[in-house]
Amino acid sequence: MTVESKSIKVEVLVIGSGAGGATTAVELADAGFEVVVLEEGAKHPLDSYGQTLPKAMQLLYRNKGMTPILGSVPIGFVEGRCLGGSTEINSGFWHRLPPEFVLRWVSQFGIRDFSVDSLEPHFAWAESHLKVSQPPEILPKSSAVFKEGVEAMGWSSRAIPRAASGCVNTNACAAGCPKGAKQGVSQNLIPLAESKGVKFVTDCKVRLLLKTRGRVTGVLAEIRRADKTTDLVRIDAEHVIVCAGATQTPALLRRSGIKSRVGDTFQIHPMLKVSVLFKEHIDAHKSVMPMLQVKEFWPDISLGGSFFSVGNLAMNLSDNWPDNNLLMKDYRNMATYYVAVRGTGRGSVRPARFGSEYSILRYELSDVDLRHLSQGLARLASMFLSNGAEAVYPCIQSIPVIKSELDAVRWLDENLPKSNMSLTTVHAFSTCPMGEREDKCAADSYGKVFGFENLYINDASMLPDSPGINPQGTIMALARRNALHFIATTKH
Ligand SMILES: Cc1cc2nc3c(=O)[nH]c(=O)nc-3n(C[C@H](O)[C@H](O)[C@H](O)COP(=O)(O)OP(=O)(O)OC[C@H]3O[C@@H](n4cnc5c(N)ncnc54)[C@H](O)[C@@H]3O)c2cc1C
Repeated sequence: MTVESKSIKVEVLVIGSGAGGATTAVELADAGFEVVVLEEGAKHPLDSYGQTLPKAMQLLYRNKGMTPILGSVPIGFVEGRCLGGSTEINSGFWHRLPPEFVLRWVSQFGIRDFSVDSLEPHFAWAESHLKVSQPPEILPKSSAVFKEGVEAMGWSSRAIPRAASGCVNTNACAAGCPKGAKQGVSQNLIPLAESKGVKFVTDCKVRLLLKTRGRVTGVLAEIRRADKTTDLVRIDAEHVIVCAGATQTPALLRRSGIKSRVGDTFQIHPMLKVSVLFKEHIDAHKSVMPMLQVKEFWPDISLGGSFFSVGNLAMNLSDNWPDNNLLMKDYRNMATYYVAVRGTGRGSVRPARFGSEYSILRYELSDVDLRHLSQGLARLASMFLSNGAEAVYPCIQSIPVIKSELDAVRWLDENLPKSNMSLTTVHAFSTCPMGEREDKCAADSYGKVFGFENLYINDASMLPDSPGINPQGTIMALARRNALHFIATTKH
């Protein structure tokens, strides 16, 4: 769409083109609604994907990949800012919401009509569009050594389905898959939505929701032109569905004066990266990340494999660089894994003052999180060391190396030094929880924001609590469920 007029009117305005936004756009257009999607990031052709990570971060990531989560333990966070959102840079691991969490969310948040059976067709729909499939039987070496260790411990694990059929191991998920095998929504739902008449306006950041007495009338949005000049436009809409992701949806709502239960319950999966030195060549830099996850200690603790490149290894070793820098020459014998915990701490999202681009994200790691991270490291390190690995290097200043099982099991009973940990996360949610419990939720059971007739949220922010699994599947299934409910209950 070429935006020439200063004021435009549309039937449904979707803000954000990621997992939630693309799903919403396809279904609403299919039902005959006129849909325009506004996306802050740019559209990038496939041949610009797969560049070095620093370049990819400039192109595809919010804040060029530098978003801190503040708290007593600062946590590094990244998310997408491009057509397709974070789905363009994620790893494509796919889970359905486990039955236990379906029940817990109904019990704790009073979500209506929410069951494993009622969610099934929505997961199936997303899985078919994203070609979700099991990874190949022949595993890359970094997965194979992980699998051997897990089996030697007698733990349960499984190869996780991925939205990456046809993956040829370019190891470039985080830089955008240059082969188009990893199914970011730019490869499937966005072209489908376009074929149904949806207009995607990229380089267009929504600054403010305009509202009057329980209705949103439209938005003020800033359009960036190729010559870097900008234009502020008002776009009027009958319905507005905000799908700007877990950090930006609450920031936009709060900036627009909508604050009740908004941005007060930021949840993440805190993650500790661990590099492992093996006796033999692993060549992790040449293969996709390890595809197994250990669910033996789920939902509190998950163990799995992480993206590996030589640059990332240097970053992971940098916490103890004087002790560990000489290891860089052994990079072919190393691979990176993680301990992720469900996250029981609490956090918040606030828009920055003075018009800055940055939202302020806070998360306070709980004692329970710390306990689980410590136990997770003990388990992961013992597993590798008892199965022949040479040494384990966690991203913790003051713990440069773990070389024996005895040193590893120590952390089953003791807490890691909290303030020395370098944690990261790529999973964020729950900033506008949905459900009928108005004392806890920002939106009803179908994402309609309380107090508004025509304002909805439909992205990671609506998950009422941390799911303890990779969240994209759950976000898409819930977004489709809510979109179908919108269609069934809205005249047009
Ligand atoms: C590196 C990485 C790896 C991951 N790996 C996995 C994985 O393997 N499996 C999994 O399930 N999940 C994974 N995730 C998480 C998953 O990708 C996200 O949970 C999911 O994409 C969130 O969907 P969403 O629609 O809420 O937000 P997004 O997909 O992030 O989309 C939000 C969009 O809104 C746009 N936007 C924001 N503010 C505005 C505004 N004001 N105006 C206009 N547009 C705006 C953004 O630019 C963005 O494009 C990963 C994430 C990352 C970053």
